[in-house]
Amino acid sequence: MTTSHYIAGRWVEGQGSDCISVSEPALGLPFAELMAASVAQVDQAVAAAREALPTWKKVSASTRAAFLRGFAEQLGLRREALITLQMRNNGKPRHEAEIDLDDAIATFAYYADLAEQLPSKNRDVPLAAPGFTARTRLEPVGVVGLIVPWNFPLVTSAWKLAPALAAGCTVVLKPSEVTPLIEQTYGQIADTLGLPAGVLNIVNGKAETGAALSSHNGLDKLSFTGSNSVGSQVMRSASAQCRPVTLELGGKSAIVVFDDCDPDQAVEWIVAGISWNAGQMCSATSRLLVQDGIADTLLPRLQAALEKLRVGNPLTEEVDMGPLTSQAQWLKVASYFATAREEGLKCLAGGQALDREGWFVSPTLYTDVPKDSRLWTEEIFGPVLCARRFATEEQAIAEANDSRFGLVATVCSADLERAERVADALEVGHVWINSVQAVFVETSWGGTKGSGIGRELGPWGLSGYQSVKHVTRCLG
Ligand code: NAD
Repeated sequence: MTTSHYIAGRWVEGQGSDCISVSEPALGLPFAELMAASVAQVDQAVAAAREALPTWKKVSASTRAAFLRGFAEQLGLRREALITLQMRNNGKPRHEAEIDLDDAIATFAYYADLAEQLPSKNRDVPLAAPGFTARTRLEPVGVVGLIVPWNFPLVTSAWKLAPALAAGCTVVLKPSEVTPLIEQTYGQIADTLGLPAGVLNIVNGKAETGAALSSHNGLDKLSFTGSNSVGSQVMRSASAQCRPVTLELGGKSAIVVFDDCDPDQAVEWIVAGISWNAGQMCSATSRLLVQDGIADTLLPRLQAALEKLRVGNPLTEEVDMGPLTSQAQWLKVASYFATAREEGLKCLAGGQALDREGWFVSPTLYTDVPKDSRLWTEEIFGPVLCARRFATEEQAIAEANDSRFGLVATVCSADLERAERVADALEVGHVWINSVQAVFVETSWGGTKGSGIGRELGPWGLSGYQSVKHVTRCLG
């Protein structure tokens, strides 16, 4: 049992009814347990954040920036422990765990810079009408609830915490019950840095704890990353109180490969888009659209590349892909394998759970998948790639856009004019051209359609935690 909730600057034991079991997916075995926070403890966390708000929002921008730089530095000091914990609890290969940590560090450093620039954003507004002055003031939204999933725990929380604290908000973070230990680091760092009590609170728990937070009437905003089904419940709670939400939800993203690509290079981008984090990425490019002229060359090479991936325990083996992070996710992916068999899909690689301990599945490729197949339309959240062929650019765009989601896409073509044209036509929040999924803190993250509301990262991520005020004065 670990003491696992950080409320009003103190570590406390959970008083909820749920026991959270933390597992090592490569072995399929639990290695830690903690009691969830009770509804009363969620109340205490929100009350602590409310109490801390008036002081924290008046703290100078440079002091807030110094705290954020402190978070970046302290994450770096905990490097090996955080990498190991992500490998153990998420099943991430070492190089991916390193990328996640570096992303979280870069996020805190970036929002430290933006926090420092805040005073210069409070400017006079030139008015056409005489006799008045007006000025802009960017104020923190207030007390913010942050609910996150398990697939990138360090990163997703950093993307919310850093801009919220930079803006002057106080927060209550609820990590996923699958990976609750990783975000404890943020509480430990708050302790080390002497962050004022109540500015950052962390409550762990399952759906009950999340629902207690998202429906709490002491919040000014809720930022949620997770599934569409929970996202819509969170939005319903927010609507009852006419409260703003940011929602980062699911995806079923396309990767479009044109005839003029180098097939081996395209295979590398395709494999990365479906095998990183064992495909448990909201941005997984799980729908491959491949042009007729290259399909027969590309698909056998893709099959070979997927079959060559080294799948195993990242703590004991050199691997390209680890296990799925939870048993629930493993069962879900296995149910899609069963559906594919029922639908008679053509399986070129994988299509099954691995016959070994732990929650492993093989990297999978289905081809000529019908447009109405559940595997083509639903988010699977595993290393399961579905392919279809296309003839023309127009057809590729139409098929890529034919989804209820709109998170990201990748375009692969040697004709850069065409690639840019296709990127402009895709109804998503982020497009990569001839690239793996490189994410930079300066560019935005978020989706269109069913993939969510709002944007994280960049200045847009900060705006999500700010309220715009104008002060207009009559000179007469
Ligand atoms: P989930 O929706 O099951 O859980 C997300 C969080 O919500 C967890 O902390 C969970 O405890 C909490 N929760 C559960 N029930 C709740 C309720 N009734 N009220 C309030 N909170 C509740 O999602 P998950 O399985 O943890 O994560 C996978 C999903 O997250 C996928 O759909 C993926 O696409 C999405 N995701 C999106 C992004 C993005 O940036 N768009 C990033 C990562 C993950």
